Amino acid sequence: MNEAAADPRPIVALVAHDEKKADLVAFCRTHSQELSRFRLVATGTTGGRIAEALPQLEITRLKSGPLGGDQQIGALIAEERVAAMIFFVDALTPHPHDVDVKALMRLAILYDIPFALNRASAELVLKADGA
Ligand code: PGA
Repeated sequence: MNEAAADPRPIVALVAHDEKKADLVAFCRTHSQELSRFRLVATGTTGGRIAEALPQLEITRLKSGPLGGDQQIGALIAEERVAAMIFFVDALTPHPHDVDVKALMRLAILYDIPFALNRASAELVLKADGA
């Protein structure tokens, strides 16, 4: 059985830059019930932080963002498997993998998926997704 058949819930992708990881964990804590209705997929370190703080949330961890995790999420978007993306961006720090982040956002735009880059938008995306 392939993994999509094993878990038919729509995917919500979760990513946070280092300075925003605590904020994303707090967001996930507040919304853990709504989030548990989705299949959660995260970049490696972000997923690790969420799993550590909220062990009740089932979460699939991909590679760390700078090592290709953002591109893995981009591939899931291109396969039309992602219902929404929440990416808490640190707008004050340069990142070595900025090109990957840009490519990820480009795919989210191209495939017209709802995506939130800060907490206020994430609240709206989660609400709009019927949570
Ligand atoms: P990380 O990746 O969760 O592995 O830190 C996030 C990112 O793209 O910066």
